[in-house]
Amino acid sequence: MNASELAGRVRTGETRAVDVLEQHLRAIEECDGELHAFLTVLGDTARSEAREIDRRLGAGEDPGPLAGVPVAVKDNLCTRGVPTTCASRILEGWLPPYDATVVKRLRGAGAVVVGKTNLDEFAMGSSTENSAFGPTRNPHDPRRVPGGSSGGSAAAVAAGLVPIALGSDTGGSIRQPAALCGVVGLKPTYGTVSRYGLVAFASSLDQVGPFARTVADAATLFDVISGHDPLDSTSLERPNPLALARLEEGVDGMRVGVVVELLDGADASVVKRVHEAAEALAAAGANVEECSVPEVSYALPAYYLLAPAEASSNLARYDGVRYGLRVDASSAEAMNGATRAVGFGPEVKRRIMLGTYVLSAGYYDAYYGQAQKVRTLIIRAFARAYEQADVLLGATTPTTAFELGSKVDDPLAMYLSDVCTVPTNLAGHPAITVPFGVDDLALPVGVQLLAPALGETSMFQAAAVIEGAAPAGALPQICAPTIGAGPTSTRGER
Ligand code: GLN
Repeated sequence: MNASELAGRVRTGETRAVDVLEQHLRAIEECDGELHAFLTVLGDTARSEAREIDRRLGAGEDPGPLAGVPVAVKDNLCTRGVPTTCASRILEGWLPPYDATVVKRLRGAGAVVVGKTNLDEFAMGSSTENSAFGPTRNPHDPRRVPGGSSGGSAAAVAAGLVPIALGSDTGGSIRQPAALCGVVGLKPTYGTVSRYGLVAFASSLDQVGPFARTVADAATLFDVISGHDPLDSTSLERPNPLALARLEEGVDGMRVGVVVELLDGADASVVKRVHEAAEALAAAGANVEECSVPEVSYALPAYYLLAPAEASSNLARYDGVRYGLRVDASSAEAMNGATRAVGFGPEVKRRIMLGTYVLSAGYYDAYYGQAQKVRTLIIRAFARAYEQADVLLGATTPTTAFELGSKVDDPLAMYLSDVCTVPTNLAGHPAITVPFGVDDLALPVGVQLLAPALGETSMFQAAAVIEGAAPAGALPQICAPTIGAGPTSTRGER
C-alpha cells in the first residue's frame, strides 16, 4: 500500500499507526536478511513514535499528511543518538547529537522513522557495493545491484519494506538506484531541501530527495521536506514549487524536448521505453520534439573532477579526533594517517587522492579550473534548451540493473552508469525518474524528466502522465510482503 493510502487509513482511524508499523517491521524481518537494505532498524523508538501518533489522533489532533507512515532514511542523514555511519568504518561509534532538518520535518508530518538504509561509503558509488557493511541486493533479482549510492533506500521501497524513503543525490544517487529498482526518485532543485544534517560529500552538488512507489507519494514527500531552513546557508528563501496540489493538471500544451545525448549509448530496450514515454506525453497533449544539448556529454568528466575535489576537502574532518574511529599511534600525525588508512575504503581513498591532485598547486587550473568552466557551459546549454522546452526527457541510466561484482574492478565502467544523471547536478536543476516498464530480462526501466531550477511543478505533472501510461512493471521477486491488509497477523515476534 502506498504512503497516501496508509496515511488516509490512519487519519480516519481505520488502521492504527502501531499496526501499520508492526506489519512493516515484520516485512523487514522477513526480507531484509537477503536484501540488506537496512543498516539499523529502529524497533523501539519507532514503536513509541507510532503510539504517539495514535494518541494524538485519539485526542482529535491531525499528525499530518504522513500520519503513521513508516519511512526509511539513508544512513548519511543525521539521527540524534542513532548510529549514522555513511556505511564507513571511520564513523564507527559516532552518535550524532542532533537530527537532520529533513528528519525533523518527516516526524513533523506524522511519519515514523523505522531505520537507516545502506549506501556506498560516503555516497560514493553507483551500486551500493562500496558499503563497508556489505552490499544491498536488488529485490527484482538478488544477483543484481540495486544501484547506488542510495541503494538501500531504493531496495527497501521497491520490496515494499517501507512505502517511502529519503536518499541523497550528488550525481544521480537517488535517480539511478530508483530506476534500477523500479521506483520513483526525485532530485530536487539545489537549495529547495535543507541539507542541515546531511553528511557532506560534494557541497555544491548534494541534495536530499524522496523515493516512493508512486509519483503522488514522491510529491507529498517533496512538499513535506522542502522549504527554507535558516540552518542551511544554501537553502533558498522563497516559496516551494507546488508539487502535489497541481499534480493532476496534465501536460496539454507543455513543450517537451527529448534530449538525444541522454539516449546516446543507452541499451536499445531503454531507448525504446523513453520513446514510448515521449509518445504518451504527446498523446496527452504535449508538444514533443527531439533536441540536442551537446554539452551534457562533458558532464561526466567534469563531475568526476569537481565531486572528488569537494569530497577531498569535506572528508578532511575525519581525523581520528572529532568523530568515530581512532587508531592509536606514536604521534598525532601518525594517528591521523593510521585512522584514515583503516577507516576509509578503497573508493573513498581514490576520490580523496583524485580530489587532492586536481586541487594541487600545479594542476588546479588544468583540472579543477577547466571543470568549473565546463560546468558553466553546461548551465548555459540547459538555459538555451529551456528556451524551447518546459521539460526535457531522456534515459535515467544507460542500462538496467547489472550483476553484483561486474563493475567493481573497473571504476570507469562504474562511473559511466551516472552519465545521464550528473548533468542536472552540475546545473543545480531538478530531475525525476519514473518507472516505465521492463527490459527483455524483466528488469525495471526508468525514464528521466528534467526541468529548469524550481520547475518541479511541471516536471511532476509530466511525471504523473508518464506514470499513468506506464506498461506494467515487474514485481520484486524475492519479497512481496502483504502490508496494510487488515489487522496485524500473528506471524513473528512482537
Ligand atoms: N555515483 C555517483 C558517484 O559515485 C553519484 C553519487 C551520488 O550521487 N551520491 O559519485
